[in-house]
Amino acid sequence: MSEQPIQIIVAGPRGKMGSETIRMISETDHFQLAAVVDSKNGGKRVADLQGLPKLDAAVYEDLQQCIDESNADVLIDFTTPEVGKDHAKIAVKHRLRAVIGTSGFTENDVRELSKLAEQNDTGIIIAPNFAIGAVLMMKFSKLAAKYFPAVEIIEQHHDGKLDAPSGTAVKTAEMMAEVREAKKQGHPDESESLEGARGAEMAGMRIHSVRLPGLVAHQEVIFGGDSETLKIRHDSIHRKSFMSGVKLAVETVVGLNVLVYGLDEILE
Ligand code: NAP
Repeated sequence: MSEQPIQIIVAGPRGKMGSETIRMISETDHFQLAAVVDSKNGGKRVADLQGLPKLDAAVYEDLQQCIDESNADVLIDFTTPEVGKDHAKIAVKHRLRAVIGTSGFTENDVRELSKLAEQNDTGIIIAPNFAIGAVLMMKFSKLAAKYFPAVEIIEQHHDGKLDAPSGTAVKTAEMMAEVREAKKQGHPDESESLEGARGAEMAGMRIHSVRLPGLVAHQEVIFGGDSETLKIRHDSIHRKSFMSGVKLAVETVVGLNVLVYGLDEILE
C-alpha cells in the first residue's frame, strides 16, 4: 500500500450504498474522497449534501469531467445498472481503476469489459456482493451443488431494487453450474397456470426474487436430496456489512491490470 492515501471517486453518493461508502472512506486513514459523481448537485461540495460527512470534495454530474479534473486512483460505483455499465467503460478507457458494486452486469457485459481492461492495462473489480458472509454462502452452495443437483434459489431485497434477479443469485447459479450435474429442476412435465410461478430459470435452476420494504439483502439456497433438505442462508441486515469487502476491493484494485469478477476471487 502506498504512503499517500488512495484517492477515490464515488458515483451515487446520495444512494444507500454510496453514502455508506463515503462514511467508510471518511473513517479510513489510507483512503481519501477525491470527488463524487451525482445525478444532480453539480458544482456543490459533498459537505453541502444532506446526510453525508462534511467533506470538502467536489460534486460532478459527469464522470468524464470528474476524472479530468480530479487526480483520482479509483472509482467506486453504486448507481443504477445502466449508469454503472457506462461508468465502468468510461473509467477503464481513462485507465482509472474501478470497483463496481452496481448490479445488472450480464456475462456479456463482463466479457466486454474484461477485454477493454486488458486493452487499457487497467484493473477493475465487479462484485455482485461485497459481504464476506455472502461470498461464503456462494462458496458453500457451490460445494453442496456437487452432491445435491436439485436446487432452487430464493433471493430477497428491499423494494427499491431495480434489477431482478439479483447479481448475487446469478453469480451463485454460475458457480453451482460449474460443478452441478446438468439437470432441469422440477418435474419434466411441469407447467405454470400462472406465468412466473416457478420463477426464472438459469442453467436448469430456478431463481425466485422477493421485493419488500424492510428487507436489505438476503438469499437462501435450498437443496433437496433423498429424504433430506439443506438450506444455506445469508442475511445482510445493514449496509455496513458490505464495507469490509469494498475496502478490500479498493486496496486490491490499485495493483490490478485485469478485470476480476466476484469478491471470492480476491479473498484468498
Ligand atoms: P440507491 O439508494 O437507489 O442509490 C443509487 C444512487 O445512484 C442514487 O442516489 C441515484 O441518484 C444515483 N444515480 C443515478 N444515476 C446517476 C448518475 N448518472 N450519476 C451519478 N449517480 C446516479 O441504490 P443502492 O441501494 O445504493 O444500490 C446501488 C446499486 O448497488 C444497485 O445496483 C444495487 O443492486 C447495488 N448493490 C450492490 C451491493 C454489492 O455488495 N455489490 C450491495 C447493495 C446494493 P437519484 O436518486 O437522484 O437518481
